Formats: sequence, structure tokens, C-alpha cells
Amino acid sequence: MVRSRDILSDVALSAATLDRSGHERTEERLVDRLLADPLTLVLELRGDRALIETVGPGDAGSGGRLLRLRLRSPQQEDLEGVVIFAGRDREGRAHVGVAHPPEGSPELAPPGSTGSDEGGWLTLRQAGAGLDDDDASLFTTVLALANWHGTHTHCSRCGAATAPAQGGWLRVCPNDGSEHYPRTDAAVIMAVVDDSDRLLLGRGPQWPEGRFSVLAGFVEPGESFEAAVAREVAEEVGLEVTDVRYLGNQPWPFPSSVMIGFTARALSTDLDIDPNEVSEALWVTRDEYRAALRSGTIRAPFGISIAKRIIEHWLGETIEEAVDVRR
Ligand SMILES: [Zn+2]
Repeated sequence: MVRSRDILSDVALSAATLDRSGHERTEERLVDRLLADPLTLVLELRGDRALIETVGPGDAGSGGRLLRLRLRSPQQEDLEGVVIFAGRDREGRAHVGVAHPPEGSPELAPPGSTGSDEGGWLTLRQAGAGLDDDDASLFTTVLALANWHGTHTHCSRCGAATAPAQGGWLRVCPNDGSEHYPRTDAAVIMAVVDDSDRLLLGRGPQWPEGRFSVLAGFVEPGESFEAAVAREVAEEVGLEVTDVRYLGNQPWPFPSSVMIGFTARALSTDLDIDPNEVSEALWVTRDEYRAALRSGTIRAPFGISIAKRIIEHWLGETIEEAVDVRR
């Protein structure tokens, strides 16, 4: 049961369990030292996938499985990937990500292809709900940085190829010495309700039939989060909102966002939809939403997303509870 409260807690991917140990990043030969330490734990990424193993049955919220990252000791070949120093755990052990492009791994077994439940190379979207906070946080951090390295290979000033530095938290141009830091793109996501506490749901133009979520959009330069909420709602469905209140946030490395969640109240209910942004939008009461989920005419956002948590916050129970007709 989701308790009604003002701020979302325990949002998936958002627990920071490692000490990022930022003071170590500037040390000379940091990567060599970390990879020479047999106690260092390596998370290898092949594209956006990590090796995941099944450790036992989980609770219902984890899709019935409990999963774990398969971390290993350093190997000589790790220097061929982008090495990312994620931080140290409570025992002081270094955690290092090693990112390889997907084409460097032809032996990747797709999930389920082995016919067993031993896991395999899974994406964070696939595995996130079954991982504990430590593993989910490590996977999230390494994936976000790997995505950045993969798409920021050259200097934005002169075009020269840049090189990773500071344990993967920086890229430096050898030509002009400029430093390039990893970026995180802020996006707002908001539960818009009307005076009857109905929730506004929208379906993106590329989404499958029946898939609805709350509205969301990127924060623009020079804009506060609250202003971004008001602008996005006005642009997408033509509504003016008030009472914009912070609800919670979630790192979302697909590829490089942080989602900042809000609630907002609409001043009217007449929708004027921009078809480029939203193909359908509708107001639902809690009973209408439960009925639509149970009949399958509406599908909820997926497992680990803050979108799902925001809807559950409004609904007063989890999506799984809402569709359970035995209750
Ligand atoms: Zn340059």
C-alpha cells in the first residue's frame, strides 16, 4: 500500500549507496592503481547491458525475481574499455565500471535465450526492478557515464578526439586542453489534477495503443523547474496550471536525464492537444483508472519509472494492487 505523503521516497535507481570518493579522481594513475587491486570490483557494460544473475525469488514488486550484478575482479582487457571509478562501498572496496561498445561483444546472450533462469546480459530497464539499491545505483551511475562517453568522443571547440580523465568523470582535449564534464539533462514530469482530483493522462505519438502516462518534458535553458512544468502542460494540452509542488526525482540514464517529479492543479479541464507532442489525453477518476487497467484499455508506465510512482501516489495504491481483482 502506498501511503499518502507529500514527497516520494525510495524511488527506484535513486538510492546513493556508494561513497563517490571524488577526491581520488584527480590522483595520478588512478585507473592503473584501481585495476591493479585484486579487491576492486568491476561492473562490465557491453553497450547498455550488464551481466545479471538470479539469486532467488523476490517479492511481487521485483517481478518475482531477485537479481544481482555479476561483479568480478579486474582483468588486463579492462584497459581496452572506458574505465569509470564509481566509488567505494562501506568496506572501502573500489567499484569500477568498464564500458565496451556493443559491437565488441558478439557473444551476448539475449535475455531468456539460454532457456534457464540464470540471468544473462540485461539492460537496466529489464533488471532494475529486481536489483537491490546498491546494484541499481551502481548500474545507473556507470550506464549514465558510459552513455556520455559514447556520444561525446570529440571536442566541442575544435573537433579533436578527446580522452577520458579523472576516473571517467572528465574528458580532456589534447589539442586545446579544454575540459568536458558529463552532462545530465533535467526533465520535469508532473501529475496534473483538476478540481475533482481527476488525473490527466497522455499518450505520446510513438507509444503503443493504450499506453498512457503523466506528462513530461525537458527543462529549457534559463527556465526554473516550475516554469517548465507550466510551459510543458500549456504546450502539450493547452491547460494553465497552478500549485506546482515538488514530489521527488529519479536519475534516468536513458540516455542521460534526471526526472524531477511534481504535482500541479489545472485551472480548467478543456484540452487543446498538440498532436506533435500528445496523440491522446484524458481525465480519469481513480475508479475509472482502476477499471481501465483491469480491462486492459489503459496500460500503466513500466516497473522502475518515477512515472509509475507518481501515478501510484495519486491513486493511493500500487498499480499491482489496483489491477488485483481479488482485493
Ligand atoms: Zn579541442
